[in-house]
Amino acid sequence: MTGLVLKDIRKSYGNVHVLHGIDLDIQEGEFIVFVGPSGCGKSTLLRMIAGLESITSGDMLIAGQKVNEVPPSRRGIAMVFQSYALYPHMTVFDNMAFGMRIAGESKQEIDRRVRAAAASLQLTQYLERLPKALSGGQRQRVAIGRAICRNPKVFLFDEPLSNLDAALRVATRIEIAKLSDSMPETTMIYVTHDQVEAMTLADRIVVLSAGRVEQVGAPLELYEHP
Ligand code: ADP
Ligand code: ADP
Repeated sequence: MTGLVLKDIRKSYGNVHVLHGIDLDIQEGEFIVFVGPSGCGKSTLLRMIAGLESITSGDMLIAGQKVNEVPPSRRGIAMVFQSYALYPHMTVFDNMAFGMRIAGESKQEIDRRVRAAAASLQLTQYLERLPKALSGGQRQRVAIGRAICRNPKVFLFDEPLSNLDAALRVATRIEIAKLSDSMPETTMIYVTHDQVEAMTLADRIVVLSAGRVEQVGAPLELYEHP
């Protein structure tokens, strides 16, 4: 039993009910995109999967293990944010190495993984730079590289292209599609309100509306027979 299972997941902030019982069965290696209007609960659900928000009720399983109370660093997940969230005072290399250093990986293994990720994302020549000396697209590739280095079972993306201009958005989207193909066992969960991103990246799209799952299906199923 691998993948990710959500069983009647609910979230409330005080009396405000944000998620009303989400049930999803996500297969290992699947690319899932959450779409829906602003405020429907996409980010909240993603942050709950990441362990950054508590679960009000329901169960969440990653690779068959209940993770409701498991802290973010021990869930086997890595997350890429809209705003990159790089450490400004660290070089590209150190940003990508950070999680592995915390995890106590050997210097040799850190070096190997950072260089492999940098090569696959065309970042090798930037490893000694600070984030401020990079373009937005390069910064987001560093954030993706940092996530790759953690060898996640589940890879989470929260509107990763929103801060990029149109050309970089397309290029970075293609990088993410390639990344997903190169990590066939890694489950990808991606939040966006962009239909083109959803159509081109998803194996299955989950349409959320006011805290409920409205539809689940492959892109062509959803958009040819809505
Ligand atoms: P989306 O990502 O789909 O735009 P969010 O998950 O950010 O939606 O938010 C879903 C709803 O939950 C919104 O109505 C939002 O205002 C509310 N919400 C999110 N975080 C909090 C919070 N910390 N306290 C209260 N309400 C919140
Ligand atoms: P986004 O739409 O990009 O997800 P938001 O502006 O909705 O971002 O939320 C930014 C932060 O504010 C999040 O951490 C979210 O949990 C929190 N938040 C959102 N809505 C509320 C709210 N109504 N009350 C308190 N915190 C909120």
